[in-house]
Amino acid sequence: MSSNWDAFYGTAGLRPVVNVSGTMTALGASIAVPQAIEAAAAIMPRFVLMGELHARASAVVAQATGAEAGFITASASAGITLAVAAAMTGPDLARIERLPDTEGMRNRVVLQAGHNCNYGAPLDQAIRLAGAKVDLVGTATLVAEHSIVGAITEATAAGVFVVSHHVVDYGQVPLRRFAELCHARGVPVIVDAASEYDLHGFLADGADAVLYSAHKFLGGPTAGIMAGKRELVRAAYMQNTGIGRGMKVGKESIAGAMAALKAWSGRDAAAIRARETAALERWRNAVHGTPGVVARIVADPTDNPLDRFQIDVDASRAGASALDMAADLAAGDPAIIIRDHEADHGILQLDPCNLHPGQAELVAARLCETLARAARHELKPVDADAWRRRHEAALATWGPDPE
Ligand SMILES: *Cc1c(COP(=O)(O)O)cnc(C)c1O
Repeated sequence: MSSNWDAFYGTAGLRPVVNVSGTMTALGASIAVPQAIEAAAAIMPRFVLMGELHARASAVVAQATGAEAGFITASASAGITLAVAAAMTGPDLARIERLPDTEGMRNRVVLQAGHNCNYGAPLDQAIRLAGAKVDLVGTATLVAEHSIVGAITEATAAGVFVVSHHVVDYGQVPLRRFAELCHARGVPVIVDAASEYDLHGFLADGADAVLYSAHKFLGGPTAGIMAGKRELVRAAYMQNTGIGRGMKVGKESIAGAMAALKAWSGRDAAAIRARETAALERWRNAVHGTPGVVARIVADPTDNPLDRFQIDVDASRAGASALDMAADLAAGDPAIIIRDHEADHGILQLDPCNLHPGQAELVAARLCETLARAARHELKPVDADAWRRRHEAALATWGPDPE
């Protein structure tokens, strides 16, 4: 890694971080592609007619997704709120002004229980933020078609469908059927596909609007991308004169998201995949033969074209738990942040899609060091309950250091 790399962190007073966790908001999302950085920088000192810029962006989203229209929002989460608002108000400016008061509007949203996940905030809150009421259908692990049919009433404004590794991946009604059941009653379907690489499939399966994050796989600036039916997208855009104002997207994010979308279609997917595979193989070779550690390469659970490196840790043989290892990697310099959401099952994953040159090697070396220290029983044990509460603890102590 270049010395420039380290200089940034020192000057900013921030800890250097190597991200093998994935596109995480808590780590700054993704590595922005050069096209997005240039486009954002070019527009920042200039004035534009924002309505015109939004319309150009709409055309770029339509081109990239095959949708009739598109709208750039502050984030996918904001996009969920604004799409739901659009489904409730339509193009009625008086209604738009009245939100989140929804009196006299269809204001209920159908959501399968297993889809009500937390991506850093509760999914249903993004719906409720518009003033809508959520009708959770079925149970977390089983949703029947008749339950969806029964939940749709005269007051139903939309159905929301979530595609994500965060949702329950069995026992839910698939999008094609969910959309058929909603459409049979004239109810539009909004799909949260924030982290999904597939820019066409959800629209083809019946979505009226789909939401993506610009700052995840696309490598854009922080923004959301709504793609869908012209009337619904326009009604979402119109929310900028209402509740959308507090979720305003800037010109730099619109220009950057447009550039990232254009760059996406031109990227060398095979070369990226080959680089990622090389990192995975390097990590597998690095830990090969470590007692108590089983290494494998696993496919993405929602079929994104992405594999991850996984180790299953048997703490009694490895000399430390998966949690102890994750904490040790995060405590080093640079901090190495890995995927630890299944650490209490002894599972750790390393995601190769946000690596800078030289970092795959660095991660391999640090992983070996951590495993060697584990074998010598030198790792600090992590209290599992404290770890479970770590986000709350970090919030409670956040702030400038005391003088
Ligand atoms: C990341 C994510 C979001 C939030 O996206 P933002 O653009 O960061 O607001 C919403 N839903 C799912 C499933 C996600 O993975």
